[in-house]
Amino acid sequence: MIELMLKNRVAVVTGGANGIGRATAVLLARHGARVFVGDFKLLPENAETFRQLGIHEQKCDVRKESDLQQLIDGAAQAGGRLDILVNNAGIGMVKQITEVTEADWDACIDTNLKGAFFGAKHAVRHMQRGGGGAIVNTASNAGLLPRAHDPVYSISKMALVGLTKSLALCHARDRIRVNCVCPGPVGDTGMMNADLAKAADPEATKNSFIAASPLAKAFRRMITPEEVAESILYLVSDAAAMVTGTSIAIDGGKSLGVPPAE
Ligand code: NAD
Repeated sequence: MIELMLKNRVAVVTGGANGIGRATAVLLARHGARVFVGDFKLLPENAETFRQLGIHEQKCDVRKESDLQQLIDGAAQAGGRLDILVNNAGIGMVKQITEVTEADWDACIDTNLKGAFFGAKHAVRHMQRGGGGAIVNTASNAGLLPRAHDPVYSISKMALVGLTKSLALCHARDRIRVNCVCPGPVGDTGMMNADLAKAADPEATKNSFIAASPLAKAFRRMITPEEVAESILYLVSDAAAMVTGTSIAIDGGKSLGVPPAE
């Protein structure tokens, strides 16, 4: 039965309290996985849904290896194994190079890249012992085509795509698959809401994000967190047993190139 495709699987989702991570944690749990969420900001509104789905949540700052180790070792110990890691926690950084401070660089690179690296480090240990597993990194369309407005973010996500390929090559022999998703403009997320709140004209900014993605434009809406979660579900499931090192763009075609003139 499709609903039980992840029965008995143990999954860790970082940044799972909000947006894409929350949608992923909920979807994996609905498909039978025992899910452990780590986030540095736990939200009270998740408590009831997480309780119903048996999702465990704990504080975790992915910039700290010790926090990641605690989260991942704790999940593997409680669940008796570790099958899935979704390295999803991330922050945006909309600044030109001349505005970027060392602290900005560290915050963005440490969250988006270092967090995924050390998350994978600790997951791989358990997965090697258990005979395999699946790791999915949440990159971005900025990881496929760098963007002019956020060089540090673009670098962090391009490196995450590189990390995905490198680990996929290194650990295929351990039956560990490593893939990434590259979303475009995803609405109803903390990151998108923060960007829109900062804009002088949030409605116009929202429309410009939609206009930059051919399918989002055709459907007159942003991508939803659940649409990204569906691809993550595929990548961690047995349906993707021979899929590793790939990047799935869920960006409505934004990273394909320049769309035809109207
Ligand atoms: P979001 O803000 O809703 O979710 C990000 C989550 O990560 C939050 O719950 C936040 O508390 C958590 N987080 C941030 N820093 C952390 C840290 N140091 N340790 C632990 N948790 C931390 O935004 P989202 O859009 O759902 O972001 C999820 C991922 O999707 C990110 O990696 C982001 O770069 C990526 N992404 C988002 C979009 C978009 O349009 N929203 C597009 C492409 C890629």
